[in-house]
Amino acid sequence: MNKEFHIEEAEKHILHTYNRYPLVIDHGKGVYLYDTDGKEYLDFAAGIAVQAFGYGDGEYNAALKEQIDKVMHTSNLYYNVPVANAAKRLAAACGMERVFFTNSGTEAIEGAVKAAKKYAYTRDEKAGHEIIAMNHSFHGRSIGALSVTGNAHYREPFEPLMPGVRFADFNDLESVKALIHEKTCAIILETVQGEGGIYPAEPSFLEGVRRLCDAHDILLILDEIQCGMGRTGEMFAWQHYGVKPDIMACAKALGCGVPVGAFVMTERVAEKSLAPGDHGTTYGGNPFVCAAADKVLQMMETRQITAHVREIAPYLEQRLDELVGRYEFLTTRRGMGLMQGIVCEKPVGEIAAKALSAGLLVITAGSDVLRFVPPLIIEKKHVDEMADKLNSVLTTM
Ligand SMILES: *Cc1c(COP(=O)(O)O)cnc(C)c1O
Repeated sequence: MNKEFHIEEAEKHILHTYNRYPLVIDHGKGVYLYDTDGKEYLDFAAGIAVQAFGYGDGEYNAALKEQIDKVMHTSNLYYNVPVANAAKRLAAACGMERVFFTNSGTEAIEGAVKAAKKYAYTRDEKAGHEIIAMNHSFHGRSIGALSVTGNAHYREPFEPLMPGVRFADFNDLESVKALIHEKTCAIILETVQGEGGIYPAEPSFLEGVRRLCDAHDILLILDEIQCGMGRTGEMFAWQHYGVKPDIMACAKALGCGVPVGAFVMTERVAEKSLAPGDHGTTYGGNPFVCAAADKVLQMMETRQITAHVREIAPYLEQRLDELVGRYEFLTTRRGMGLMQGIVCEKPVGEIAAKALSAGLLVITAGSDVLRFVPPLIIEKKHVDEMADKLNSVLTTM
């Protein structure tokens, strides 16, 4: 009754751009969420890879409350302390020098694309540069980010998009090489493709792309929005590869629920890139969101989150592999750290819906992948609870 009422009220006025699960979330604690009827859910979705520390973390909440009482927003016409602190920590975490804070992932991509174009414009003293992106990629919903997103379904109604984008195949170096020409200014890819179905880049592919970029003074833009911030067992997934981007986009877990993203570049790029007047944002990097980002980055360090992910992830892989071994319609598992996917030959939406009834939140990726992106603080007992609940659903399929 309670739930149906809230859903009906929401559907009266919210633009119908999502087919939402019939769940009205009230509050969270640790790695559990509770709906308005008091039902408990083990959360292996984490608000789409956002809630790295789960819900109700005392240290995080206290930092935000303190900042609320000081000042929420100042605009970027003035300095504030949290933005300097957050930028310093983010730069240190990735070993890159220049940070621009945004309000979302898609805006981080917009900024990264503009930064690459400006770099090439300064170097060549003329515009007209092009970008290579990947098929099955996902970079966001604004027009620029959509222009480098390799998914026809998301793009088509909004064409013409930004011109000058060519699509190669992820993990196929020859297909990238074939598209390079003198106007190419950047290659953009997710280090681990998320929405496209949880595909990690192969080391030889990422190394090869880096070499192509170096040979032609093309900038490598890595989208770490989903796979970054400790999720794979390194702060950023590219740190597994020994390959460094020129520009990185980051968001999702950066604020752990507070809307904040960033694009980060090396000093070498920054020297020829965005200058005063080239880019801006009213909210981006305001004291409130930066107090969150600063605290998140600090907590990841003090709580050694990447070490925890490296410790717990093999157990998640093992329990998922057991399920893949048990059910014929589950064909493979792939992923890195706490970003895992299972390829499924039965409707994944139906499985996710049934899991919800069983008190488990899992989400899908692409058309046939069950996605597991839990809070990074999960313990073995949560992995066991997830595997048991999922098993009880899979037996009914
Ligand atoms: C979620 C996501 C985005 C878009 O971020 P928003 O905050 O939704 O705009 C871009 N790239 C990747 C890889 C993502 O997972």
